[in-house]
Amino acid sequence: MNHSASSRSVVRAKGLLIALTLVVFGSARTVAGDGPKKWECTPAKTPACDCADVNDLINRWNVDNAAIAEYRHQIAGMKAKEALDGKPFMFDFSVYHDKLEPTVNASMKTQFSPGQTSARGGTDGNCETTIDSPTYCLCTVLKAHEDTHYNDCMEYKSNLPGTGYLDYRYAGTMVQVASDEIFGYRTEINRIDGILHNMPAKCKPKQWTGIIDYSETVVTSSSTPIPPNKGAKVLGGTNSTSFSRTQTAVVSVMNGEAHVNTDVTEISKGGQEITSMVKCHGNEQLRENPHHDNSIVTNEAHGYGKAPSFRVNFGGDRYTVSFRTPQVTGTRDQTRDLSPAACGPSYVPKPVNGPYTLGTEAIRLRETASRRIWR
Ligand SMILES: [Zn+2]
Repeated sequence: MNHSASSRSVVRAKGLLIALTLVVFGSARTVAGDGPKKWECTPAKTPACDCADVNDLINRWNVDNAAIAEYRHQIAGMKAKEALDGKPFMFDFSVYHDKLEPTVNASMKTQFSPGQTSARGGTDGNCETTIDSPTYCLCTVLKAHEDTHYNDCMEYKSNLPGTGYLDYRYAGTMVQVASDEIFGYRTEINRIDGILHNMPAKCKPKQWTGIIDYSETVVTSSSTPIPPNKGAKVLGGTNSTSFSRTQTAVVSVMNGEAHVNTDVTEISKGGQEITSMVKCHGNEQLRENPHHDNSIVTNEAHGYGKAPSFRVNFGGDRYTVSFRTPQVTGTRDQTRDLSPAACGPSYVPKPVNGPYTLGTEAIRLRETASRRIWR
């Protein structure tokens, strides 16, 4: 038998492009005399947004992206829970209100540029919208988000005529509710894009403003043959290891100031396959006994960063990105398969030939895709 080292690497990296989708809602069916009215912002100027609102809009655009990234991360956790439980994770108000929303709000705060105007909006389970915005411009942006909830809520209520208070979200799973939030924040982003594109060039920020999608994958693998050892009755085998590390980051840049939110996944696999000779019970024959020993370690990190853990340097139309690797934590999975030796006709060992070589290959790939908020 000829043992030879083999190494294989697979690389996949893809810039995360945030798809902008525009969905036009039909007007919500309303039950006559039932349910709250759609929220209206108090008009303060025409147009609603001008140069004075640009920084607020870009700041909100960054914050919206942070919310989407956090909801995406949370959805991955919810799906993992559903897979583990074997049933859907239905909407739970206390989980939503006491855990999910504060987590998302904390992520949004990390992307908030100091000095910008903050605004808040919400629509409760009874379709009642409240928007608290110091400016008319931001109010119109938040209204675009809240209207999506209002429309969903009213549609649900109109299908249940005569019922009293019932949070419309109880009809869905946590994943659906979180996905609706992503849709709401994406609606805000679309609205902001539209407002900025219609503004005069003089409102344009002086420095780079936009988003950078960064993706990096490192894959290494190696395979080492285990030579036969007559004394230990080893016929041969293979030690193999593989490691992959994927880091994606969405970098929001406002007027040259960068915020990052990043996901890291590291997977290390180790395995041994060994074939040895074992003695059969009550039998002097030797048998071939394959044996597998595998372990998988998965580490993950998710977080937000500002300088100095993360840096973007801009020079005209070019930029460079540098990171400090976030701390990862994870789980270890180990399996061991010691196949019992079956007794039967005597085994004839095959001849084993050298030489034995070690193979290791590392591939690193970085990819960035940038998109200026202002086109
Ligand atoms: Zn919302």
